[in-house]
Amino acid sequence: MQLPAKTLVYIASTNRSGSTLLGSLLGIHSGLSMVGEFHHLHSYLNQGAYGRIYDYRCSCREKVSDCPFWRAVLDAAGLTDRTALTRVRSGTSSVRRNLAYPWYCVAGEARIAKDLRRELARSVNARQAADTCYRILDKACETSGRQVVVDTSKRVEQALALIHFKPSDWAIRIVHLLRDPRGNADSLVRRARENGAKGSFSGACLYWVRENRRFLVLGRQLGAEEYFLLRYEDLCSKPEQHLRAICSFIGIAYEPRMLEGNPVVMHDIGGSPRKLDYDQGIQIRLDERWQGSMTPCRKLAYAVIARRLARRFGYQY
Ligand SMILES: [Zn+2]
Repeated sequence: MQLPAKTLVYIASTNRSGSTLLGSLLGIHSGLSMVGEFHHLHSYLNQGAYGRIYDYRCSCREKVSDCPFWRAVLDAAGLTDRTALTRVRSGTSSVRRNLAYPWYCVAGEARIAKDLRRELARSVNARQAADTCYRILDKACETSGRQVVVDTSKRVEQALALIHFKPSDWAIRIVHLLRDPRGNADSLVRRARENGAKGSFSGACLYWVRENRRFLVLGRQLGAEEYFLLRYEDLCSKPEQHLRAICSFIGIAYEPRMLEGNPVVMHDIGGSPRKLDYDQGIQIRLDERWQGSMTPCRKLAYAVIARRLARRFGYQY
């Protein structure tokens, strides 16, 4: 049997939980290549709505279609722009998904595990997307000369497909990154309002519960060798300690350069707009702006929806 020669580090989290920060810190390591929110590659190459947010640019500031890294990877993989379908499409409508959010506050773990199996079976193109991802990731390893790739795509459907259809020469490591639900929800609402939407704090809390419960159940199925849980607040307060632990989990040696704050240019796509400042060096700042915005309504929404699960993760208030 062929032993895994390459490792995919998949960051699983809700949006606005620090995944771009974590992925970028890992991407500084000389043995890791950070590709970002890789499942959006199709949107970047085909002028989709998501890629438009970034003007279809890689973090090196070139258009993805012109970036030397992505050009080399896609050419080597033999993919034309229009065939680079890397996103697993859910077979469930977004309306049905949204209606099911409160269910995740009360469902048992066995029921969620069954739901995850259904999620994979319902996905429209899971095998094809996973095969395409690994084909591109193989070439990302060759082009970068690195055997470990960091994908910050975050979505559980994507993770399921990448686990289920993993080739034998790849290993996978899931890093479940989570953030205090109040900080996460506040950041999601803030971002929605910046984009002209209303944003709902309670809706964001429901999203937090749903995604984190699904990642927890996935982690139980994988076991400690393939699943690692990390809190955003711990990463920011003790970065060296936690980066050492992640490196050990991945099976690589910790490198001090990950925290030296030197300018860094990567070829990742998607993620937080803050990453464009990373070419000046990565500054780790714990974002706790939410503490000044906890109205009575928000406190009630948090207490009813997310506090029970938050306490399981050690958020003790
Ligand atoms: Zn680039």
